[in-house]
Amino acid sequence: MIYHSTRDESLKADSAQAVLEGLAPDGGLYVPQSLPAFDWQACLKGSAMDMSTAILSALLPEIPDMPELVRKAYTGKFATGELTPTVPVGDMHVLELFHGPTSAFKDVALCMLPQLLTAARTAKGVKEDILILTATSGDTGKAALEGFRDVDGIKICVFYPDGGVSQVQRAQMVTQEGKNVTVSAVVGNFDDAQTGVKMIFSACRDKEMKHRLSSANSINIGRLAPQIMYYFKAYRDLLDAGKIRLGDLVDFSVPTGNFGDILAGYLAKELGLPVGMLICASNANNVLTDFIRTGTYDRMRPLYKTDSPSMDILVSSNLERLLYLLSGDAALVAGLMKDLNEKGSYTVPAELLEKIQAQFMADYCGDAEAQEVMGRVFRDHGYVCDPHTASGWLAAERYVNSTGSKRPMVVLSTASPYKFPQAVLTALGQTPAGDGFDQMEQLNAVSGVPVPKNLAGLRTKEERHTGVIEKEAMLDFVLAI
Ligand SMILES: *Cc1c(COP(=O)(O)O)cnc(C)c1O
Repeated sequence: MIYHSTRDESLKADSAQAVLEGLAPDGGLYVPQSLPAFDWQACLKGSAMDMSTAILSALLPEIPDMPELVRKAYTGKFATGELTPTVPVGDMHVLELFHGPTSAFKDVALCMLPQLLTAARTAKGVKEDILILTATSGDTGKAALEGFRDVDGIKICVFYPDGGVSQVQRAQMVTQEGKNVTVSAVVGNFDDAQTGVKMIFSACRDKEMKHRLSSANSINIGRLAPQIMYYFKAYRDLLDAGKIRLGDLVDFSVPTGNFGDILAGYLAKELGLPVGMLICASNANNVLTDFIRTGTYDRMRPLYKTDSPSMDILVSSNLERLLYLLSGDAALVAGLMKDLNEKGSYTVPAELLEKIQAQFMADYCGDAEAQEVMGRVFRDHGYVCDPHTASGWLAAERYVNSTGSKRPMVVLSTASPYKFPQAVLTALGQTPAGDGFDQMEQLNAVSGVPVPKNLAGLRTKEERHTGVIEKEAMLDFVLAI
């Protein structure tokens, strides 16, 4: 199956090549030339792992042995064989994506990506080792470290913004075990770390390197494609619960940062799943809300640190894929990305904005509103959600209230509340006491929800990666690996 760059249709790769490269040579993102025929109704019949196998075989046909890869990726890794259960909470359906090894939704993709990458490397006869370079706003880093640890032929290096992640998220990364892992904090924010990583990619492009560089961020199609599964799974759960009949439309509200998760929902829809509105939920960093409402994307604004750090992003990379998929115009996308780079903003043509608004709604939620939502959802329904999920909940509520929609609404829950115990406890009317680990216990006492095993075990783990570097030092740091 042919993929090509969002910025130039002549830059082509098959699916295995696209997974290996991560980013197209011109800095564009790989998109399918056309989507394969897909039997979405048959896909709904299997288990979560069967769904994953069907979707990934269709989208990544040059990667062989998909059933075996999926089995290896997920067996025994999640707290439930369902992988991603859907839980009714009031009038909403919460799709819990956080039952994987690091308690964030990114586990769904990052358990799979190492399998895809290893198989693609073999399929293409690549001899060099692969070095995965990743900038993280908190969750990707740990999920990638856990996914890639001790995988033969692959090394991984993760950079996170110093002081820009929660205490629990930091503890998850600095205690990481594995013979092929490196972690460092970078002075600056997430965008500084991500810009540093992009710079290393271009600096190394023409160098003789011992390793081949690749990425675990959702710019890689091998990271994006595994996320399509849980939209099917949620739909199937609603069918099983008698909430819908086959063919009924379902709306999804998605806490959004890099636009990867919500784009997976769009791809599910393109594969035939009856998806209604996709609601793009942001925090105070509401660059996507402004874009979807006005057609102007403007990153020239301050980046706020919020209680939902995984959404503290001003440049949402995957939006570029949507712009291409809806316009089919690589020259247009190349021009917009040039504007973003040079002027810090771009405006899409009116017809393209209309297409976006027909399928996407956007809203945002400040920290105070997220607090209100977490407190209210707990009081009314006894359900504890994390600050990211709260933004999705509020955006969903506002959508339903303003449109009077009667369609079932699925809110994607992207992290365990135990990753952000301080913010959650405060929202529940408690006074957080002690460090992050004490707060986990406190939250457990208040809510009765069990602490995920991987998080409970962190307190006593040895800190192995405590370095902090300046962003100018990132290249040398990588060259030393
Ligand atoms: C990464 C992340 C998001 C945002 O997902 P994108 O694919 O970047 O849009 C939302 N919530 C949590 C908890 C995350 O870790």
